[in-house]
Amino acid sequence: MNTRILKPSDSAYGYPLLIKRLLTSTQRVEERNQIVSGRQRFSYRQLNERICRLANALRAQGIGPGDTVAVLDWDSHRYLECFFAIPMIGAVLHTVNIRLSPQQILYTMNHAQDDLVLVHDDFLPIIDGIKGQLETVKGYVRLTDVDTPPEAPFATAGEYEALLAEAAVSYDFPDFDENSVATAFYTTGTTGNPKGVYFSHRQLVLHTLNLVNTLLTRNAGDPLLDHDGVYMPITPMFHVHAWGIPYAATMMGIQQIYPGRYEPNRLARLIREEGVTFSHCVPTILQMVLQSAEAASTDFKNWKVIIGGSALTPGLVEQAMTRGVDIFSAYGMSETCPLLAITRITREQRGQPMAEQIAWRVKAGIPSDLVDIQIWDSNGTPLPHDGKSAGEVVVRAPWLTQSYLFEPDKGAELWAKGWLHTGDVASIHPDGCIEIKDRIKDVIKTGGEWISSLELERLISTHPGVHAVTVIGIPDEQWGERPCALVISRTAECSAQSIVDHLQQYVAGGAINKWAIPKEVRIVTEIPTTSVGKIDKKRIRAQLT
Ligand code: AMP
Repeated sequence: MNTRILKPSDSAYGYPLLIKRLLTSTQRVEERNQIVSGRQRFSYRQLNERICRLANALRAQGIGPGDTVAVLDWDSHRYLECFFAIPMIGAVLHTVNIRLSPQQILYTMNHAQDDLVLVHDDFLPIIDGIKGQLETVKGYVRLTDVDTPPEAPFATAGEYEALLAEAAVSYDFPDFDENSVATAFYTTGTTGNPKGVYFSHRQLVLHTLNLVNTLLTRNAGDPLLDHDGVYMPITPMFHVHAWGIPYAATMMGIQQIYPGRYEPNRLARLIREEGVTFSHCVPTILQMVLQSAEAASTDFKNWKVIIGGSALTPGLVEQAMTRGVDIFSAYGMSETCPLLAITRITREQRGQPMAEQIAWRVKAGIPSDLVDIQIWDSNGTPLPHDGKSAGEVVVRAPWLTQSYLFEPDKGAELWAKGWLHTGDVASIHPDGCIEIKDRIKDVIKTGGEWISSLELERLISTHPGVHAVTVIGIPDEQWGERPCALVISRTAECSAQSIVDHLQQYVAGGAINKWAIPKEVRIVTEIPTTSVGKIDKKRIRAQLT
């Protein structure tokens, strides 16, 4: 049987899935909600106008289809405007990871072949230091939050607001191929050069549609985000487009709060004063917000938070839920745009005791629609979804990076056998729920056994004196590796010995074997984190071994 292929007739409109289409509904109806950023508040009508102005300003700087525009900014209304205007004129938005070292920033900007750089005052010194080595950049635009900024250390084409004010207020955004690259950014690896990932208009539109549906349906009867919600990202906009949620929030036309530089007290204050109902972040940032001085006078009862990027520990779920936060997990990675899975809570589950809720909420969630997930053994054989078998997570979905930017060999490795390899080990339960066991690189290989560092962290985090914990493998002559735990204590009673004693109950109960008891427990005051606030196990390993 031959498939009958639908081809648009000459007269029909093909409707490419372009980012500009995400704005269609807000142009039509949105009158109530605003974009809030520092002292500024814009209506959706103004947002649409400003996107047109920015497009005109970019064209005036010589930027057109195929060019790349780098942005170095805190989370702001400007960044949101760039999310739209830059790809909508056919250019590529490079969201620069401002937390990388200047040398790594230089590497990413040359590698991405940036043409124009939009740079906030706070990052002028970094750009000033590497400017002489930027190979493709032809100009700079300054971003500022103050009325009279000090003079820039090098010549720029002007200040963002001034350029927008001069630019025309309408722009006829053209149609083009939906497979055109819209955005690019770099993975956050701390060793070796970061790798670039990239996403097309079609991918971002499909990701957004899916995200909206997922946010609406994952918490029975009480959506994570709907038109009445107030959204504030706490995952930087340079990191996987703040998980793509600004695109979803804009399409939904909801109230959005952009918090600038992340400062725990200010974040807690914004949650209180702006009535934020929905955010997303990595675990360490949630912890910092909950422990800030402002948190003491903040009611978190209307705040829903998705935690991703690292495993959520039972300790943090309990802490958050005790403060009233409705907390969910999400699973994804830079290469996957990022959405792969989010916790789903049914009406019945919400009524269950805390312990059962914790067990649900720490798991990485149920795959989102259109996401095909398998777990493979080392030969590439799919394993059963029985909640016990563990293997590497491999995925297919319409929005995964097709390769690494200008590094086809690494891209081919990522896509070995036609599936994107996540480098994560997980089991999948019969109901579809994913339980991440570890990153392949973080699993502790001791004797013939593999110990999940995440599992050990989960168990140690239930010790009442533990504030934060991370576990890595350290070399051991006899066993190959043994676990080493770094613990930040909450109370003076939290000693290394008390942690070992605490773990004995899990050995006795059969949850872990005796080799999982850490060879060393170090009580520390700080645990190193990566550029996006995740615990940096590579750095810890390098320091300890
Ligand atoms: P990145 O590309 O920096 O966003 O990092 C992606 C990696 O973070 C994934 O491959 C996982 O190892 C880890 N990760 C993300 N979400 C979760 C989660 N819910 N639980 C455990 N690990 C996660």
